Amino acid sequence: MLKLNNVSCKYGAVLALSNVSMEVPDGKIVTLLGANGAGKSTALKAVSGLLQPFRGSIDWNGQKIETASCKQIVQQGIVHCPEGRQIFPELTVLENLKLGRYARRDTKDVKRDFEQVLEYFPRLRDRLHQSGGTLSGGEQQMLAIGRALMGGPKLLLLDEPSLGLAPIVTKEIMKIIKTINQSGVSVLLVEQNARLALSVADYAYVLEVGHIVIEGPSETVKNNSQIQELYLGMG
Ligand code: ATP
Repeated sequence: MLKLNNVSCKYGAVLALSNVSMEVPDGKIVTLLGANGAGKSTALKAVSGLLQPFRGSIDWNGQKIETASCKQIVQQGIVHCPEGRQIFPELTVLENLKLGRYARRDTKDVKRDFEQVLEYFPRLRDRLHQSGGTLSGGEQQMLAIGRALMGGPKLLLLDEPSLGLAPIVTKEIMKIIKTINQSGVSVLLVEQNARLALSVADYAYVLEVGHIVIEGPSETVKNNSQIQELYLGMG
């Protein structure tokens, strides 16, 4: 279980997260919604060690991780799949995937995870020796998720996997996220597309300028009139 307790983060003088408390129970998909600049990516960065909170604590299975390094956090089973995919365009699909296992200690499971990734994303199998930069946007997103899975996560942090993708590709990716979750991986999903995120998540938090303003089971949040008006275009 991941737990953020009153976490606050800033960039210089800019306060990006203020007293954020949230949980991702084992085996669940939790989504973090909000407009541009609300602080969603910042929350993921705080969890994966890219940014250290100046206040509050982050617990992972009872251990405090807010001052741990990115590498230590990956080794404890939390893997961040960043916004904008950040694949290496000059490297092949295979090389990109191999990079995902860099921090692993349990190398015996790497081969199994590699086969699992190719099962989730058969399109990557057909393109293993093609450079990452020649893939379509949807395929690059699949590669980014595949690379994260090569780190052997127990918790996957996904930042806007739908960004810039056609609705049909987005649907395909969401279906795979659900399958990954059913295999036992918890997911913290950051999305601007609230409709999509609420359709796969168990629980949702809504951030507005660094504060959590609404939280609840996805079904409840979906029926909240404020959410319908502001995030689901039903006003
Ligand atoms: P988006 O959906 O646009 O990615 P977000 O909800 O993920 O938005 P963040 O990227 O977490 O939002 O940004 C939260 C706030 O922190 C914003 O005001 C942003 O301008 C600021 N911010 C983010 N990164 C930096 C940085 N490296 N330096 C300074 N300010 C930053």
